[in-house]
Amino acid sequence: MTVLEQGQIQIHTENIFPIIKKAVYSGHEVFLRELVSNAVDAISKRRMAAMAGDCSEGSEGLVSIRIDREAKTLTISDNGIGMSADEVKRYINQVAFSSAEDFLEKYKREDDAIIGHFGLGFYSSFMVAERVELISLSASPGAEAVRWSCDGSPNFSLESGERTEPGTDVILYLQEEELEYIEPARIRSLITTYCDFLPVAVQLEGETVNKREAPWRKIPRELSDDDYIALYRYLYPFQGDPLLWVHLNTDYPYTLQGILYFPRLTGRADWEKGEIRLYCNQVFVSDSIKEVVPRYLLPLRGVIDSPDIPLNVSRSALQTDRRVRSIGGFVAKKVGDRLKELHRDEPARYAEIWEGIAPFIKIGAMEDEKFADQVAELILFGTTAAAADIDPIAAGDKAYTTLSGYCSRLGGADQKRILYCTDEASQAGPLALWQGEGAEVLLADTLIDAQFIPWLEARHEELSFRRVDAELDDSLREQESELVDAEGKDSSEQLRELFKTALGDGRITIQVQALKGENAPAALILLPEQMRRLNDMGALMEQRLPGLPDHHVLLVNRRHPLVEGLLKLAAGSVITAAGGASPSQQLASDLSRHLHDMARLAVGGLEPNQLAGFQQRSAELMGRLMERGLG
Ligand code: ADP
Repeated sequence: MTVLEQGQIQIHTENIFPIIKKAVYSGHEVFLRELVSNAVDAISKRRMAAMAGDCSEGSEGLVSIRIDREAKTLTISDNGIGMSADEVKRYINQVAFSSAEDFLEKYKREDDAIIGHFGLGFYSSFMVAERVELISLSASPGAEAVRWSCDGSPNFSLESGERTEPGTDVILYLQEEELEYIEPARIRSLITTYCDFLPVAVQLEGETVNKREAPWRKIPRELSDDDYIALYRYLYPFQGDPLLWVHLNTDYPYTLQGILYFPRLTGRADWEKGEIRLYCNQVFVSDSIKEVVPRYLLPLRGVIDSPDIPLNVSRSALQTDRRVRSIGGFVAKKVGDRLKELHRDEPARYAEIWEGIAPFIKIGAMEDEKFADQVAELILFGTTAAAADIDPIAAGDKAYTTLSGYCSRLGGADQKRILYCTDEASQAGPLALWQGEGAEVLLADTLIDAQFIPWLEARHEELSFRRVDAELDDSLREQESELVDAEGKDSSEQLRELFKTALGDGRITIQVQALKGENAPAALILLPEQMRRLNDMGALMEQRLPGLPDHHVLLVNRRHPLVEGLLKLAAGSVITAAGGASPSQQLASDLSRHLHDMARLAVGGLEPNQLAGFQQRSAELMGRLMERGLG
């Protein structure tokens, strides 16, 4: 064995290797990614050199990993371009060394974790090995094999080696505390994590472990829906199939490929963590890159593969990086384009997934002006309009409309009043009244709508949203003249007084009206829009469900037979000698209160702890009415 050279790696620190180990105190496992990436690079360099006629082509590229439990070694071999003695000196002693130094320099400066410890390169092997040997034969004709060895001190030796086929073996003599890497299961899982999509076979003990195909590198038309879904299932098992995907591919002003999926959100979406995986040239870097996409796209899943995202910077630096921000903008634009395309080409499918994608779109629109412009016509609302009357987008039995579609049906008025309903059950009374008069009502029944509606109003000054129970307008009222009593009071005034006295609560406003429709209720509760919104907001801040506000309107329907009877009961009663209320007056007053209770019950405004009292009062009242019937 000829000793070619013995020397010292040019070094500024006395001993860099313990420093590597100490500096990068966690995530030592990335050494495997670095070494396999080098091997794959060497294989593609050989392919290029062979095409240029500079070396032999060799057999198909292969990275093979072997474990020797006895010797406690891990060997990573490739049949790539290899290195001559000069190249080892240049690339391993100098290039690799200075890039490791660079890495450590940057690493020290960053206070917060660097994404995936990327780019430490060849010397990352010293995070787990006490000694590293490299045996290489260059693919250039007539080359001789070399063996380089280094024990973690700056001293290395370079001598002639024994290798007959071009390529490189990197042999790691594992440190005692890093013996986990002698376990095949550990290595196998590292290959699937980091090297799954590398285009070259990576074998462990003779068996290919990685998938080799990175679907995002293909042209979209080469992929079927099943291919996209298969990748999603592979990356996010047992999560249900995605609703939609977007294939990203650009070469300018940066190189980026990827596939993003809109997941089927179950329960609460995670708007904090981020589940998109970041790759760099098919090598896995990180499984959460919340810095690269805008916040509203964080629950999206899938892959972004770009060599142009800086990886040796802290997460906070990444967030403010100009290029990264423009990548975020690009991703948002592509997502918007894809949504537009689906809306245009497959409206039924779009409507079908609308509820699943709505949170992204609404939050996105509120947070990003550009995105808002893009999706303005893609935002749907459920509508009560019959499909036949309008041209809605339907999904099953549910009809949807856009806001502009709704407005165009409203007709001329400049100021558009948009009727909406947030809960068909508790707003059933007023909803039925509006529907009875042929009004179209939008359904805004998701939590986000409480913020989204004010946002829409701020964006479109001509629009004002009114919940169905905010107020009733003339179209719902019968215009009829009223009887006047001896004191010149009309029935509305009499009823107002009756209810006011019976309820004895200044916070409740009594309105008396003659409602149209046979089924209009005797009394219902209205919540003026702005007041209700304040109440909702207060509840949101205190993280509770908004209950019925103490200040509300009780609308009494004087056309209802019960209310007509009530008026007669109250008017026909005689003042008793003692000056107290007569039994009829008392009954009229109790019935008024009961009507208020019933109206509260209909809107869910009776708290569970008030129900027992309600039941008692009902029984007591019914008892009294029965007595009158029997008597
Ligand atoms: P980088 O890969 O980022 O250049 P490394 O420290 O990983 O940095 O490697 C330095 C250089 O050593 C590489 O650029 C390459 O020229 C050479 N090298 C490393 N590993 C191999 C290998 N398996 N086969 C051939 N050359 C290699």
